[in-house]
Amino acid sequence: MHMIFDTHAHYDDEAFDEDREELLAAMNAGGIGTIVNACAAIDGLDKTVALMEKYPFIYGAVGVHPDDADKMTDETLDRIRMLCRHEKTVAVGEIGLDYYWHKEKEEHRIQQDMFRAQMDIAREEKLPFMVHSREAAEDTLQIVREYVKDGMYGGIIHCFSYSKEIAREYLNMGLYLGIGGVVTFTNGRKLKEVVEYAPLSQLLLETDCPYLAPKPHRGKRNSSLNLPLVVAAIAELKGVSEETVIRVTEENAKKLLMKTEEK
Ligand SMILES: [Zn+2]
Repeated sequence: MHMIFDTHAHYDDEAFDEDREELLAAMNAGGIGTIVNACAAIDGLDKTVALMEKYPFIYGAVGVHPDDADKMTDETLDRIRMLCRHEKTVAVGEIGLDYYWHKEKEEHRIQQDMFRAQMDIAREEKLPFMVHSREAAEDTLQIVREYVKDGMYGGIIHCFSYSKEIAREYLNMGLYLGIGGVVTFTNGRKLKEVVEYAPLSQLLLETDCPYLAPKPHRGKRNSSLNLPLVVAAIAELKGVSEETVIRVTEENAKKLLMKTEEK
């Protein structure tokens, strides 16, 4: 039986402190087969390792979000590189650029430096990358294009929020788009167009929980158990069954992320 593969969640977030264990114990019955916990803050690195060592179905993406780029040191980069060699690490992420929360040119420069440093690690450690990009379409595209041209091991544009035209650029590079709760939003028309346009073979399911709960839970704490709502929205847009969406996105995720299992 095929099960939902959540490629991007933050179960180390304090929003889950009260009931993390019960919630994760409910995943299998809720049809969720595999979860990738993505590091965001620097202190998320150790928390992600703890989760992937405790739960057989949780894997990890190690990296630091652009929000924390200015707090990163050489030591942080060394730690990320070391954690890439953990048998359950499947990607470097989430890394990238966020100009929505950070408007200063100097901040952008630091974010770009740390993005590149972590893309270097992904290449050297032969892992896919997982990109966060907000209000930074052009700079992100330029950096990703440059890296892919010189050879990478695949990648995901997580929580894709740009136009169909930009989606086309990433799809042509053979990358995957992470699709979550936004596709169910009434004002999510731009993403709906992207999902209609993109081949199902390049889409992945993700929650980004505790954030971005799908309709009708918008604004509440999200979890992987809400992914069937995202599956339903994608199935409707693509004119295929929900079962097909679950099966193909699971195959996509395994193809991209689980090839490192024999590491
Ligand atoms: Zn995230």
